[in-house]
Amino acid sequence: MIKKGTKLYSIFKNKCPRCQEGEFFETTNPYDLKRMGKMHEKCSVCEQKFEPETGFYFGAMYVSYALGVAIFVSIWVACLVLSPDMHPAGIFGLVVLGLLVLFPISFRLSRRIWINLFVKYEEKEVRSSNQTN
Ligand SMILES: [Zn+2]
Repeated sequence: MIKKGTKLYSIFKNKCPRCQEGEFFETTNPYDLKRMGKMHEKCSVCEQKFEPETGFYFGAMYVSYALGVAIFVSIWVACLVLSPDMHPAGIFGLVVLGLLVLFPISFRLSRRIWINLFVKYEEKEVRSSNQTN
């Protein structure tokens, strides 16, 4: 299990990066394609804004690109290991299929990774003392 308080917890559990209690995306199912990209405006628990500034998530494209490369390489290597005689065009087809099928997951992961680069986890006690200052 991933421990609360780590960035991985927020990234993989769809939680607010600051309090790790409120939900980040409206739905926890990435294959609910109609609502897949819908995020809450702010955290329901600590009121952290999930889009701190306009265009904030343009940077998430770099993360998404890196995830895409990782998926590409993983599928390619898996094909070479499991079926060494496979034609490169067949491997390429599988890579494209894999990227399409995994797109909702990598899209959401990249946004959560991106916001976790900028927003730190704060425990409840720390948060409440910050608000009184
Ligand atoms: Zn929160």
